Amino acid sequence: MNNVRELMARLGPSTVKFDTGRGGTPDLTNQDIAAALGMVPAGLGRELLEACWWPDGAALRRHRLRDAVIALVTPELRRQQRKLADARTDLGLAEVCMGWTGSVTAEQRAERDRAAHRLGQVKAQCWPISTLESLPTLASAVIGEMSTREGCTKCHGRGTSQTGKGPEVCPSCSGSGLGAISDRRRAAALGRDESTYRERWRGVYEWLLARMLDAEQGAAAHMGRALTGSTEDRQCSPATS
Ligand SMILES: [Zn+2]
Repeated sequence: MNNVRELMARLGPSTVKFDTGRGGTPDLTNQDIAAALGMVPAGLGRELLEACWWPDGAALRRHRLRDAVIALVTPELRRQQRKLADARTDLGLAEVCMGWTGSVTAEQRAERDRAAHRLGQVKAQCWPISTLESLPTLASAVIGEMSTREGCTKCHGRGTSQTGKGPEVCPSCSGSGLGAISDRRRAAALGRDESTYRERWRGVYEWLLARMLDAEQGAAAHMGRALTGSTEDRQCSPATS
């Protein structure tokens, strides 16, 4: 699949003149590569494929990447806001019950404490309030990580390691094939200090990274299949030109 990503880099304007192919795919032209990219369904995966591996092309359509990231994040943000509002209402209701008749029962107090505890838990799970306005920074940090991240040194990027019982999910990268990145590096990419990152931003960063990696991998697989199709067509078709 790395092949797809390497091929994408050939589409930059500085390499347009380069149409004779290289490496193991001498029969693929820039037109083939662009056509295969065109076969990848529109959406987050394709935008990421371009943003990571063909920055010049993606720059022209950056609003689409923005829209795709917003579409990814909005449902989760709404879900969190609803959960937070519900927990706040529950606490308010528990408090109003306590004061209703003047005397407070132990049961009412316990109910209020439970509601307060739950609100605290929900708050801790919510992304920071400034998540939306930080989305451009978050997205570009994730894209930066995706496009420069090296493969896992244990499994050499395969995601599995050979054991006596056959291939097993690599314990070092949990099957992602990706090398480890420190919180410190991620914090720096977001312009935060490490402790603020761990406390407030790690949740949303890792959430975004997992989904964006997934979408990009799906798009790369789609493009890989389209490219295989185009080389097979070439090999099957008789020389008609
Ligand atoms: Zn690994």
